[in-house]
Amino acid sequence: MKKTILIFVLLTSSIFAKLNVATTYTYLSSITQRIGGNLVQVTCLSSPKLDPHFITPKPSLIAKLRKKDLIIINGAQLEIGWLPPLLRSANNPKIQNGNKGFLDVSAAITLIDKPKTVSRSQGDVHPDGNPHFILDIHNSIIVGKLISLKLAQLDPSHSQIYTQNYKKFQKQMQHLAHTLKTKYKSCQGKKVIQYHELFNYAFKQYGIQNIGNIEPLPGISPSSKHTLALINQMKNNKVTTLLQDVYHEKKTARFIAQQTGAHIALVPHDVGAMRGTHTLETFYTSIGKAICQ
Ligand SMILES: [Zn+2]
Repeated sequence: MKKTILIFVLLTSSIFAKLNVATTYTYLSSITQRIGGNLVQVTCLSSPKLDPHFITPKPSLIAKLRKKDLIIINGAQLEIGWLPPLLRSANNPKIQNGNKGFLDVSAAITLIDKPKTVSRSQGDVHPDGNPHFILDIHNSIIVGKLISLKLAQLDPSHSQIYTQNYKKFQKQMQHLAHTLKTKYKSCQGKKVIQYHELFNYAFKQYGIQNIGNIEPLPGISPSSKHTLALINQMKNNKVTTLLQDVYHEKKTARFIAQQTGAHIALVPHDVGAMRGTHTLETFYTSIGKAICQ
């Protein structure tokens, strides 16, 4: 009897074994969950409240990577400062770069803001171009497709389900993209400033004009000289909106707002970065609202 139960448990656990997936950011977890449904077990390695360029590579994250079948990363060097040592220490051959269980979704994206030369004079981060492509809703669809293909490759017996889930996801995101485009049509040409080059892809989506960044260069802290020049630029261009993310200091934005009369709009850079942005739908709706209203 005991033997029969054991065989049954072993059989059912192998039939219903879930793909064990790690992702580096919450948006990747959300998309993977939508495509994989109950066939995947997803763990995210970071919190959306933190600076995505500089996640602390805590030892607890190494343990999380040991038994994974797949890791899905943003790529375009966004994780370069924190993920490589974790992958090395986890010593899990399945998820090493170049192996089947490693997926870099930036491979499917056309990056913008590519520097002409790579040197520190271009800033501290983004040598491959702007890695914050997920801020444009259209890129979530491209990422969704790539994830569905990868899940089907690792778990071919459920490939039809992954394809169906992707098609449903694609329709939902296309519908939302259309709704947002119609709703915020009038904000085309609006002039704004932002802290870091986080929202450039969203600007492209909505036809927004970025007048400048609080950071003089990506990853370089604001200087008084640059801030004063930015204030002048804002006055000359009648900029009334300053976009602030959740993880940078807010002092500089408050000073600029005081000097120019601009209002500070807090914008989520990832799913769950702010209250009420825990789904892809509420995340993209919040971005549109914060930038355009
Ligand atoms: Zn960045």
